[in-house]
Amino acid sequence: MKIFPISSESLGTRSSCHLITTEDVTILIDPSVSLGPRRYGLPPHPLELAISKHTRDVILDLVEQTDILITTHYHGDHYTLGVKRIVEFTDNEVANRTYGPKKRVPYQLHFAKSPNDTNFNQKKRAYYLWRRKDINIKPADGTKLKIGDTLLEFSPSYPHGSEHSKLGTVIGIYIEDSSDSWLYTGDVDGPGNAKAVEFILSHEADFLLIDGPPFYHPQVSKQEIEISFENLKKIVKNTDSKILLEHHFLRALNWKEKMQEFELNIDPLNFAQYIGIEALFLEANRKNLMKEQPPPKNYMQALQNNDPEILAYLDDVFENNTALQELKRYLKKIKQKSFNITEKERLNIEWIKIEEEPVI
Ligand SMILES: [Zn+2]
Repeated sequence: MKIFPISSESLGTRSSCHLITTEDVTILIDPSVSLGPRRYGLPPHPLELAISKHTRDVILDLVEQTDILITTHYHGDHYTLGVKRIVEFTDNEVANRTYGPKKRVPYQLHFAKSPNDTNFNQKKRAYYLWRRKDINIKPADGTKLKIGDTLLEFSPSYPHGSEHSKLGTVIGIYIEDSSDSWLYTGDVDGPGNAKAVEFILSHEADFLLIDGPPFYHPQVSKQEIEISFENLKKIVKNTDSKILLEHHFLRALNWKEKMQEFELNIDPLNFAQYIGIEALFLEANRKNLMKEQPPPKNYMQALQNNDPEILAYLDDVFENNTALQELKRYLKKIKQKSFNITEKERLNIEWIKIEEEPVI
């Protein structure tokens, strides 16, 4: 199994997109890229926008060479919205290219979180996908299947954070082939709930990707953060998995201090370390960036107006800003790579457990 991180906090954006190739299939998880629209009262810095633009381009390439798409939930940092969002470089056409039928992969299968038990906001967004009749989409919650030697096991639906989370529900995914295993929790804010802990501890994954406690977030209570850290510690104590903490946990620069404060004694990886490049915590560092590298005047307005000059400027930033060189080289390598896809008429699936409830 090979893991290719595509977008996340340590890679300069706000998302959790990664590609997994096994000897049997190529799987793209949460194909989206997003930026915090406001942080410290500030819009995204041009460095963030330059990465978002180019990562979007890479994702649009990858969806054309993926056997299986997975959507863990319907927030914009995991799910490409079909409405114009300038900082995410998406609109109806981009969403259609991401999720619509693919010429080269007509059999592409999309396992997505069932919207049945989530909140209104996620349901509304999910409707775009589930109303489509031209794609092969299945509710993933609790489903288990094999393709050749690759096992895919989706968690049951669990809360996006604490038991009383208002953010709706998500799923996690466990993938195993003959060489390695990988578990991605989806957004569980820590984990902040017992169901997610149970799913994690019922698998001995070689690698465990957790989003981590969102301690930066003013609307998440101190008590919720404490529970999340306690759950994390319980996981660390009961598993030998190599842990990657990526996404929520890295949205503030003091994550190491928080680990000390809560006595979380691990040396977690993030996506940047995993691929061996310098981490780019750009959203967390936005205030300093604005001071040190002031953006051009009215750049957000220009972006809103699709001004070709601002788009060319962002391309220039991506090509030439020294801070982005390692990430640029990595993303270009991904873009040039061709991933193995099954290219059969359909995927040869052995169903082990199927979610029977139809999506309503
Ligand atoms: Zn997220």
